[in-house]
Amino acid sequence: MDTIDELLTNNRTFAEPLADRHLDVEPSRQLAIVTCMDSRLDVFAALGLGDGEAHVLRNAGGVVSDDVIRSLAISQRRLGTREVMLIHHTDCGMEKITDEGFRVELEEATGIAPEFPIESFKSVDESVRESLDRVRRSPFIPHRDAVRGFVYDVDTHRLREVEADD
Ligand SMILES: [Zn+2]
Repeated sequence: MDTIDELLTNNRTFAEPLADRHLDVEPSRQLAIVTCMDSRLDVFAALGLGDGEAHVLRNAGGVVSDDVIRSLAISQRRLGTREVMLIHHTDCGMEKITDEGFRVELEEATGIAPEFPIESFKSVDESVRESLDRVRRSPFIPHRDAVRGFVYDVDTHRLREVEADD
């Protein structure tokens, strides 16, 4: 059985004892979280969040890309969120590549130069500050007074706040 078939079985087991319910599409905590796709960070468990409470946007590195700005604009302008929590983490895969190296790798493998930025980084704190800055500078995001950035330690499970540049 491949992994997805196994997960489909897991879903039937998960859903079976649960009563039907309908939660509002607007997150009850009025919060959006931007974080990395890293498999070691269970966002809901680590923050004590439940279903229906927050938007969680994930990509490689948890960087504030154009698509994250798009999602935050929808999150705040249509779905009622007001706070933004950015969470990068220790031992990130994006620290282990370089923009130029990965760009060349993609181009050599495919003959096509990618149009998207790679967004690797050397310093996780610097990357959090860059992401904070992108959110705070975006005119598409109306609520920018409650944006905070953190580094999650994948070994200790603890969050550390990163102060923004002023
Ligand atoms: Zn990562």
